[in-house]
Amino acid sequence: MSPTPPPATRASAKKELPEHFRGYKHVWVCVEQERGDVHPVSWELLGEGRKLADKLGVELGAVVLGGPGEGTKEAAAEAFRFGADVAYLVEHPVLTDYRNESYAKAVTQLVNAYKPEILLLGATNLGRDLAGSVATTLLTGLTADCTELAVDADGSLAATRPTFGGSLLCTIYTLNYRPQMATVRPRVMPMPERVADRVGRVVPFTPDLDEDSIITKLLRFIPDRDSNKSNLAFADVVVAGGMGLQSAENFQLVKNLASVLGAEYGCSRPVVQKGWLPAERQIGQTGKTIRPKLYIAAGISGAIQHRVGVEGADCIVAINTDKNAPIFDFAHIGIATDAIRLLPALTEAFRARLSPHQRDRLAG
Ligand code: FAD
Repeated sequence: MSPTPPPATRASAKKELPEHFRGYKHVWVCVEQERGDVHPVSWELLGEGRKLADKLGVELGAVVLGGPGEGTKEAAAEAFRFGADVAYLVEHPVLTDYRNESYAKAVTQLVNAYKPEILLLGATNLGRDLAGSVATTLLTGLTADCTELAVDADGSLAATRPTFGGSLLCTIYTLNYRPQMATVRPRVMPMPERVADRVGRVVPFTPDLDEDSIITKLLRFIPDRDSNKSNLAFADVVVAGGMGLQSAENFQLVKNLASVLGAEYGCSRPVVQKGWLPAERQIGQTGKTIRPKLYIAAGISGAIQHRVGVEGADCIVAINTDKNAPIFDFAHIGIATDAIRLLPALTEAFRARLSPHQRDRLAG
């Protein structure tokens, strides 16, 4: 019987980088902007991209796509303030609104022209859609939903993400293809400092696009700010409930406390699965990642898939009847008691501290 071969290691998996990939240089971040509204994950990624570029000793580029005069120049100027050295201004009337086909073609053409070694996108609806198509057309590797990015001693991108249902972390390399692509969800990386007078170099790029060749047609544009989706990911204060609240009706207690605190409310995954709250309220690995100043978790056990979505919070207050619940391992303040009784008491205590004006506004 032949001996079992040793498991493949990173070193054995790495071949010599093909000649045509050797000229790939610089770190790029795709800035997600729609008609002048930039998604903040773009700035978070520039913060992370800055560290990678500094480690590699290369430039940090921001890729800004859009229709001519549709906020692209402003987005590029802002990208410099968040750390970019150069902004690739990709303007074309066909790019006025996001469509997978036109954006993927434009990014692919830009990459083929300037050859970045790393390309980062936000793991938003738009970013996930675009990243997959670009990686497919460029025939390169993409690591989705990364929680950590680093550069190895040999200059490879080490992209870390949860695996096996979030119980393990794995580090993925794109060893033999370029660019190395990764997406990161909003609020996973901290927001970098904005330097108001920081400037950079603009590289205009006109992609070869033609409206007739784009199959998808835009019938109507509905900006996100017109939808009533939650702002959980960017809220300063979040109150969330878990299965410990025992019924859909008891989530009114979470909403009441959130309302008095001017907070957003959220929940754990089984609450969504029960149909007690909609999916956009779910916090955790397969829900939203949050980074509030204060996170109050009521009746949530603190499973690893929930923890990864909240551990960026400055202060976590956990309310749980079980003093051995895992959430007490990472909460800053733990209260071992019945949340169904404590939440109304907390709400009243905070309400009593409101000014008459604030109370009127709440009642209205
Ligand atoms: P439970 O685990 O049932 O815990 C309820 C807690 O409430 C217990 O600790 C209990 O002691 C406490 N309790 C009971 N009564 C009271 C009371 N009256 N007052 C106070 N405390 C009380 N989960 C997420 O949250 N987000 C995700 O994004 C997510 N993604 C997942 C992805 C995958 C692939 C998998 C496999 C799982 C995922 N999960 C996710 C599920 C996760 O593993 C846990 O099952 C889930 O977080 C548990 O939710 P819970 O804490 O509300 O419920």
